[in-house]
Amino acid sequence: EVINLNSLFNFVLNRFDMILESDAKNENTITKNYNILREFTKEDVWVEVDPDKFTQVLDNIMNNAVKYSPDGGTITARLIKTKTRAILSISDQGLGIPRKDLDNIFNRFFRVDKSRSRAQGGTGLGLAISKEVVEKFNGRIWVDSVENKGSTFYISLAYVDEEPEDDWDAE
Ligand code: ATP
Ligand code: MG
Repeated sequence: EVINLNSLFNFVLNRFDMILESDAKNENTITKNYNILREFTKEDVWVEVDPDKFTQVLDNIMNNAVKYSPDGGTITARLIKTKTRAILSISDQGLGIPRKDLDNIFNRFFRVDKSRSRAQGGTGLGLAISKEVVEKFNGRIWVDSVENKGSTFYISLAYVDEEPEDDWDAE
């Protein structure tokens, strides 16, 4: 299915903004504060992905960005277009990932430093599943990270040129 990546990405980010607002209203103290900055191309980006699965991928990466960051951090969401590919990224100012673990981060059940990760719940499956989904749609996913500074997760996908034809009156 050809979808508008700008809208899908915004939809996911809006939901993370709403979680914060509703927690503030309910005086819920368990949630971490964060700030989402969006730097999107003004051009529409159309890609061929399964929208539900791709939403889950972005949810996973956003959840990690919140989970592995201190309170009050900024998360920067970017969407750009190169000659042939769309690149989206999510940057946090969190714990970062040790250099020696960077190659393992997308493996099933891998979690950085068991003791560090135990404090935050999780199974270590989020990124492995995300990678499977992204690659199924001929995309690539990778990470750039500096320990104690933060991480940036990138996804690139080939984009299609135009908005799909509305096929309401197709036979
Ligand atoms: P879950 O299956 O609930 O997502 P998880 O978050 O532990 O569990 P992944 O999302 O696959 O699993 O991430 C694997 C590991 O990579 C994490 O345990 C964490 O150590 C590290 N990691 C992932 N994202 C980040 C991030 N943004 N900053 C720092 N470390 C991260
Ligand atoms: Mg996770």
